[in-house]
Amino acid sequence: MAQTNRAALYTRVSSTGQEDNYSLQTQEASCRAFAAERGWEVAGVYTDVHTRVELWERPQLSALRETVRRHDVDTVICYAIDRLSGDPVHLGVILSEADHAGVDVVFVSEPLDDSPEGQLIRFVRGYAAKIEHEKIKERTMRGKLARVQSGKPTVGPRPPYGYRWRDDRDQNGKPVKLRLEENPETAWVVRRIFSEIASGSSARKVAQRLTEEGVPTPTGRALWIGSTISGMLKHPTYTGHVTAWRWKKEKVKGRGVVNTSRPASDHASLPDVAPALVAPEVATRARAQLGRNKQQAVRNNPNPEAFLLRGGIVRCGYCGGALVGRNSRFGPLYRCNTNHRDRNGCPHFSIMASILDTAVWDGIRERLTCPDVIAAELHRLRAQDPTRADVTSLDRRIGEVTRRQRNLMTRLADEDNADVAALIRADVAATVDEQRRLEQERVDLERQREGWRLAQERLTELDLWVRNVTAKLDEFDYAKRRLALSELGATVRVWATDHSPRWEVALRPDAFGPPIVNTTTCG
Ligand SMILES: [Zn+2]
Repeated sequence: MAQTNRAALYTRVSSTGQEDNYSLQTQEASCRAFAAERGWEVAGVYTDVHTRVELWERPQLSALRETVRRHDVDTVICYAIDRLSGDPVHLGVILSEADHAGVDVVFVSEPLDDSPEGQLIRFVRGYAAKIEHEKIKERTMRGKLARVQSGKPTVGPRPPYGYRWRDDRDQNGKPVKLRLEENPETAWVVRRIFSEIASGSSARKVAQRLTEEGVPTPTGRALWIGSTISGMLKHPTYTGHVTAWRWKKEKVKGRGVVNTSRPASDHASLPDVAPALVAPEVATRARAQLGRNKQQAVRNNPNPEAFLLRGGIVRCGYCGGALVGRNSRFGPLYRCNTNHRDRNGCPHFSIMASILDTAVWDGIRERLTCPDVIAAELHRLRAQDPTRADVTSLDRRIGEVTRRQRNLMTRLADEDNADVAALIRADVAATVDEQRRLEQERVDLERQREGWRLAQERLTELDLWVRNVTAKLDEFDYAKRRLALSELGATVRVWATDHSPRWEVALRPDAFGPPIVNTTTCG
């Protein structure tokens, strides 16, 4: 029986004044036209405006996902992939939920099957573990979001340096963390840092002086480092602007959980949570000076292209900190940042940039041009249909039950004795139940088989995508190589000469196989 396909539309703009070809009206009109062409009924329109990047921070998307989970619609129509989410993991969450509920997700401007992004996205659907992690995070974040929406600060393990929690109580007299106040033991350090930088000092020099004087650091360690100082200068709380959602924690392979900054449009301002420690004009001067210092540092590096892996791609195998590129009399080399090394006791070591850059790039190219990992996985999958044996035996059992039922019916038709007929009728009812149960089991198996088939499809697509990209790898210049490294999520860890391996490259997604080590071979 043909039923009308019920479609939900999802549209989104990231700011209220967005006037590009992504405007809400355009998106909705295209989605409606898309539905009309196919004779689908529009069962609902979900629109998010000026919202944050995280899934749980988009109320309408959450509502839509609820609808999808209940299978209240058959299809979700979205104008473009990035309107749904720019983050592959989030897309994975949404798409796999839809898959699970048997709801189709289609994009008006980008058919999933064709574009490399589409292929990659489908592949990402298989990231069950990541998705599970994301769900757990989402539950935690919902709680945090509620806190921020009611004007309370998100509570970290400790208040920002220079502050302490005020002695606030809830109605039961229990202490609650609601407002910050000046900490007389450390607030002066914050003021001094701002004023010294404002009068022309560098973060590194300020750090040196504070260390020499034995001033307590935010983490309780003995050593102040430049990045702590510059981080404090950027912290909006010190001018009285408490902001939630400035950072998010992300798991990075080989580095554990790292903090990354969110775009300013995501920040949520919380008025009256903390007093300013620094006058706005001092803060402005200090921040401007910091910018000038940074420009100076860039000018001091005369040859940035000599370092393919600069800017955090190459990391210390001992402490995990970014290695820094330096020009030495032997040529450009990478070594662990002096401060990190002193703090973490890493051995002294360095590696020539030209050697490491070439070796790492060759390793990556080799891995991409012989994606045996993908091929092997595909082969393994194809070889085994996890449901084949079960389907055969189920079909046999369904046949048996059906036969038994037919025999009982024949006997029932011939039976004159009412009591015996009642007994046969009960037997027939039992076979009907069993038939139903077996058929449900068969439906479940079919679903399982469909999953198996989809997994192969995803891998085939990933394989294609990789081949597509790798055909052009040899022509890549410095900028394109940098871009490729970041797209692949490459991180390189390096150890001293007495360590084996000397270096190791990890790539995301994990389907690109185990880490590439300093002796790479194909297959
Ligand atoms: Zn180190």
